[in-house]
Amino acid sequence: MKGKYLIIGCMIMASCTQKSPIKSVENAPLGVEQARALWTEKDGTQAEFEQLVADYYCRTDSERLALFESLSRIFENVFQSSDMLTVELLRPTQLTNAAEPQIPDWIMSGYSPSAHFSDDMFANKLAFITIMNFPHYSLEEKNRLGQHWTRQEWAMARMGDVFTTRVPAEVNARMAQVLANAENYIADYNIYMGNLRTEDGRQLWDNDKVLLSHWNLRDELKALYQADNMETRGHNRERQEMIYQVMQCIVNQTIPAEAINNPDYVWAPYSDKNGENEPYTRYEKILDIAHAYMAEDAYCPTAPTGIQRNFEEGVEIPAAELDSLFCALVGSPQVAQVATIIEERLGRELRPYDIWYDGFKARASLNEDELTAQTRQLYPDANAFAADMPRLLQKMGFYSEDARNIAHHIVVEPARGSGHAWPCLGRKEDARLRTRIPATGMDYKGYNIAVHEFGHCVEQVLDMYFIDYYMLSGVPNTAYTEASAFLWQQRDLQLLPKSSIANLQSSMSNDEVFDQFWSMYEIMGVSLVDMAMWQWIYAHPKASAKELCEATQQIAKEVWNQYYEPVLGEHDCILLAIYSHMVNAPMYLPNYPLGHIVQYQLEEHLAKYKNQTDFADEYARIYKLGRLTPKQWMIEAVGEAPSVEPILRVVDKICGETQKQ
Ligand SMILES: [Zn+2]
Repeated sequence: MKGKYLIIGCMIMASCTQKSPIKSVENAPLGVEQARALWTEKDGTQAEFEQLVADYYCRTDSERLALFESLSRIFENVFQSSDMLTVELLRPTQLTNAAEPQIPDWIMSGYSPSAHFSDDMFANKLAFITIMNFPHYSLEEKNRLGQHWTRQEWAMARMGDVFTTRVPAEVNARMAQVLANAENYIADYNIYMGNLRTEDGRQLWDNDKVLLSHWNLRDELKALYQADNMETRGHNRERQEMIYQVMQCIVNQTIPAEAINNPDYVWAPYSDKNGENEPYTRYEKILDIAHAYMAEDAYCPTAPTGIQRNFEEGVEIPAAELDSLFCALVGSPQVAQVATIIEERLGRELRPYDIWYDGFKARASLNEDELTAQTRQLYPDANAFAADMPRLLQKMGFYSEDARNIAHHIVVEPARGSGHAWPCLGRKEDARLRTRIPATGMDYKGYNIAVHEFGHCVEQVLDMYFIDYYMLSGVPNTAYTEASAFLWQQRDLQLLPKSSIANLQSSMSNDEVFDQFWSMYEIMGVSLVDMAMWQWIYAHPKASAKELCEATQQIAKEVWNQYYEPVLGEHDCILLAIYSHMVNAPMYLPNYPLGHIVQYQLEEHLAKYKNQTDFADEYARIYKLGRLTPKQWMIEAVGEAPSVEPILRVVDKICGETQKQ
């Protein structure tokens, strides 16, 4: 097979006659075979495929480099222009300084200029030319071979990720449809709390209290810790127990169908078996998504299951690795240490729903009114925040010229909804910081969020404008940009002009650390259940919704009994399967704990840089690594693969200090 491609010509750079035993030729079979795997009858005959290879397969390094540079330019232009068009089309619906949105604006807010890009590139054959010359490497190969790759080889490997699947439009449409159905199902899953009754017929909530599962139920449960005092304690506990009972009924589907989103049905969750149960709808929605994944599988030769596509091509950490990463934390002795502190504060034995304990009040010592007075004066509007960005960067340790350069590529815009950061996809586009500022000026909470979004934008500018290869722009996955945002947000007080805090080391209080540790413990358990459920689904592709319901409960019980029962009690608890993400955002949950894992590793590493400019230099060096794999990025950033050890060390240290006091 190899020889066949050695003798073919290349029309891209006909003038180049240099022949050498180059790497691109060694790669020939891999890339060409990958292109062949995606070639269909609609594209042409086999002979036409061979001709395409004969015409466009590069024979020398210089030909391949020229092709790489030309494709990089094309991709940057297409991705950036599509994004800039999207930004313009969304302006009325997203920003307050734009025209009032009209019906056409709402229609166009769902329009995607690049939706047909992949189809078009297969039709004009550019996708095949890309693949044959820049083969796709699996995650395992990237992590193994990539240790020795040059930056250019990494960039070329990323080019091999652009066209790996060829899912027909109708199969894509089916996935979009089932996800939308799941979204709608979840969006209407309201519980009328005023309709719930205790066994002796009492009502614990007002009539107008309506809570969406699981977010509002969980947040209500959390709020009941805040309000806990001697007068209301019994009442709050009773309400927490009731929410816990409702959650279990949702997971095991013993909830009466009529109790969902219905203002007229009165329900006693502990004993009411009058109504017809919800007919496994929760699990039907998950199965619909699973079947849509399975329909895609045949068109995705490099990652033929939904699980592989999500973890190996999306997150780029295999599910099994995340599993052991999470188990290292949820199975650590630190869990029992923190649980003891919670038990002491609550003055009672822990219950399963105490995975949502909310008593570690963050930054209790803050005088928020005083801070709000400062931020309102500083930032009356978006322009004031924009003008202050170079100062924020300098305070973080950047030299004034670098600070101006970075700030130059960030625009601040007044958002209609909550704040967010919109990344730039090319070097003619700015990163966008969207923030909501009331007429009275930015309050402290708004400032805290704006600094978080600013952390996203600085990352986006560093790994777009200050990076060596466009194909490497960005970060390995969402968790890595969140880590930059957390890093800035954590220093919001140091960044205020009046701040007397001299150093940039993280100012997290002990309670903040405990709070994050406990929420990682919670969300990791939830993630473990989600991941195991998907493994089960792929192992039982013909399962019914009832069988999936039973299997999911079994998985939740196993995770619980191993890692949660020892500190929270209750054998065979199914609480960890309550998250709605399991239904409408398949396999997304692991991203949350991953962001905190990355954050703690960076914090521990950056703490070595006591001098401000050294701190900024190191932060910038790390965020200019770009889109390596998560593992390689972390090794080059801090010297080791993703690990929970840094957070475990911090918790250990604090617990030790607290005991000494
Ligand atoms: Zn964020």
